[in-house]
Amino acid sequence: MPPRHTAPTDQPGKVWIIGAGPGDPDLLTVRALRAIEQADLILFDYLVSDEIRALFPKQAAHFYVGKKQGQHSIAQADLNALLVRKARQGLKVARVKGGDAFVFGRGSEELLALRQAGIDAEVIPGITAASGCSTYAGIPLTHRGLAQGCTLVTAQGESDQPLPWAALVALKHTLVFYMGLSRAEHISRELMSAGMAPNTPCALIENGTRQDQRLHLGTLAELPQLASQAQAPALILVGEVVSLAAQLNPPAEQFLAHCQRLSA
Ligand code: SAH
Repeated sequence: MPPRHTAPTDQPGKVWIIGAGPGDPDLLTVRALRAIEQADLILFDYLVSDEIRALFPKQAAHFYVGKKQGQHSIAQADLNALLVRKARQGLKVARVKGGDAFVFGRGSEELLALRQAGIDAEVIPGITAASGCSTYAGIPLTHRGLAQGCTLVTAQGESDQPLPWAALVALKHTLVFYMGLSRAEHISRELMSAGMAPNTPCALIENGTRQDQRLHLGTLAELPQLASQAQAPALILVGEVVSLAAQLNPPAEQFLAHCQRLSA
């Protein structure tokens, strides 16, 4: 059957905004997979891994609409308009995003546009990078006696809205920086100037939950050096909980065997 991306019926269309998790296809929710399997048209982002794309059904047309490091394949406003147009044509559209669509995912902007246009739209939550990547690296986001909380933050867009660095340090939370790779030096400098100890444990998790996941461990002072060895996508964790990785991180062979077992 040729890919369907014109109206298959005169039924009203629908959009699912789907969080696909950080990359390991086994972290897709059952609900996400069910929606993907029913879609006529799939619009996906750059964080959606090849393994997840391999699960897209043959009868659905799929298009990359992502952005990588500021390079947008399509402007957000045009993408919102495209979602509305395709749903109005009667298509079932799966808008597939990395992690969770409501965590630094612009899912809420797309949902607002769809609601305003009166389109039937539903958000399916996904495992956000903070949760998936840290767990696969053996780092708990909270741990009794080490961190009472965890704060998810991005240092991008600071020229418009500076981060309250002193408040972040005062919280004594595990800090999780999304989109922080190119800002690692800035993050390290600002946290130390706000009083965080230079030897605070730090982790940089590259390609988290994927077969090629790499974990870089060091201190806050060493964060720029860790970042210089890493590639996107990467997540930065700062806080005492990172010290547990030495005991909780599964040995590489065990981790790979586990992945192979799951995908067998
Ligand atoms: N909505 C996504 C986040 C999008 S912002 C979510 O909930 O996870 C993009 C940032 O997420 C990346 O720059 C990186 O910091 C982080 N990220 C997403 N997937 C990742 C992965 N597999 N490994 C490491 N970092 C990841």
